[in-house]
Amino acid sequence: MKFFLSLLLLFLFSQNQFAQNWLITQEDWGGTDSVDSSLEHEISYITIHHGGEIFPDDKNTVTYLQNLQKWSRSDRKWNDIPYHYVIARDGKVYEGRPLNYRGDTNTTYDPTGHALVVLLGNFEEQEVKAEQIESLKTVTAYLAKQESVAAEKIQTHKDYAETLCPGKKLTGYLNTRDWNSFLNGLD
Ligand SMILES: [Zn+2]
Repeated sequence: MKFFLSLLLLFLFSQNQFAQNWLITQEDWGGTDSVDSSLEHEISYITIHHGGEIFPDDKNTVTYLQNLQKWSRSDRKWNDIPYHYVIARDGKVYEGRPLNYRGDTNTTYDPTGHALVVLLGNFEEQEVKAEQIESLKTVTAYLAKQESVAAEKIQTHKDYAETLCPGKKLTGYLNTRDWNSFLNGLD
């Protein structure tokens, strides 16, 4: 009995290593749920985006997310924010659409099976912040492990659709040895 108890504790502890203690949930930032079981999907890919609009460092992320959620629902008739994880300029990570619901896009690829991660900013114009890169690694490592996504299935929006997303400055970073050795280190 004692043996099984220690096994259970070991199991719980190892699960807990992958807890998302870095995540600011929808509830935390004042977002609201919208249930739609027809959107359910299984994750096979991780796909990286930029927000596409210039995001000044002093702009309020929470207000931005609340407005993005309203716009997604009222203007686009989407269930929620199109992305699952939103990385702010200061590196904070906000929960977007629940991961078990497929995302949405203004372009032509089918986001079913994709975990969509967005870094706020326009990286054709703005620099990516070091804090955003660190958080991108945290989110990617978590998703790759939790959803068993292989390194070759971790790509960017423009690998699937006609778009500049995620912008040349972020794409430039994703072509570096630093990012590639990070990907190679994932199991
Ligand atoms: Zn994109």
